[in-house]
Amino acid sequence: MSADFASRLERARRRMTDLGVDVLLLSVGADLPYLTGYEAMPLERLTMLVLPRDGGATLVVPRLEAPRVVERSDAFAIRPWAETEDPVGIVAALAGTPAVAAIGDRTWARFLVELSAAMPGVSFSTASSVTGPMRAVKDPHEIDMLRQAARAADVVANELLTGGIDLVGRSEAHVAAQIEGHMRAAGHARVNFVIVAAGENAASPHHEPGDRVIEPGEVVLCDLGGSVVDEDGIGYCSDMTRCIWLGTPPPEAAEIYAVVQRANEASTAAVAVDVTCESIDAAARGAITDAGYGEYFVHRTGHGIGIEEHEEPYLVAGNLQRLVAGNAFSIEPGVYLPGRFGFRLEDIVVLTEAGPDVLTGTDRALAVLEP
Ligand code: ZN
Ligand code: ZN
Ligand code: ZN
Repeated sequence: MSADFASRLERARRRMTDLGVDVLLLSVGADLPYLTGYEAMPLERLTMLVLPRDGGATLVVPRLEAPRVVERSDAFAIRPWAETEDPVGIVAALAGTPAVAAIGDRTWARFLVELSAAMPGVSFSTASSVTGPMRAVKDPHEIDMLRQAARAADVVANELLTGGIDLVGRSEAHVAAQIEGHMRAAGHARVNFVIVAAGENAASPHHEPGDRVIEPGEVVLCDLGGSVVDEDGIGYCSDMTRCIWLGTPPPEAAEIYAVVQRANEASTAAVAVDVTCESIDAAARGAITDAGYGEYFVHRTGHGIGIEEHEEPYLVAGNLQRLVAGNAFSIEPGVYLPGRFGFRLEDIVVLTEAGPDVLTGTDRALAVLEP
């Protein structure tokens, strides 16, 4: 079933009315495919949807890229521009005479600068104020896609935890490349990232896999994320982290892992309609702080997930936003001891009226593999 882009655009217009936004301008990034089914190529030529609050939507697209656009005349018109035309002028003309324009957060700065000059007196705001809360509430089709993505990640995580991918004696980068292949075989159309972090590298939450050879007697932290693609060509993300100890973990490591697992369980159990985002973070942080490791949990507890691997809602102290059914996000507490080792345990959760639905199913215990 294809998404109903016309009704998404209509909902965007209603939010624009509520927020006092006269025109929405979307380029590269996930807002454009969410509202039109088309993803702009991240190149130097301008692609931009112009959505006036009270008028028809027009997708301004380089002529040579126009054949990639699936026409949806019920939702938007297409305005291809030739190499000698000025796309900024075309966008400014289509925008009319707005007071407030909301522009896609990931639009190249160059185009914002040029549009500011072409639209004097217009005040610019970020499109995420319009689209973020819309995209944060997933419809049944989107939840289906996230479930598919989580299952694909589960397949690979299960292989890792049961010794299906050799670790000892190989470099992090080598293992990461093999994981990428397994992710595609499991149904991911795209691999967005693979973190393989051995020993002390596991204490760096966003470690880039490198030449470091994996040794017996240490941890391997694997965080993998890819996208499965629906019939409109829109990708939905997976994201999960599991840890493996090669040999018997020392008591300190086993204890810390148990703390991380408790934090994961406590924050998942706290997920409910109408609770604040920061309270989910507090549940994880409380479990880790009570055990004495609070200063080593250096990131928020989770992030929304959908077309983008990180989107609203963010589970972080200070975010008083209340969860609603349809929110989808990661729960990923961790403890990182610099120079030594680290653990993270990451699942993807969808909030339903009945409570949390954990999409990732792979065993949460610290996997112990004999090297
Ligand atoms: Zn991350
Ligand atoms: Zn994540
Ligand atoms: Zn992750």
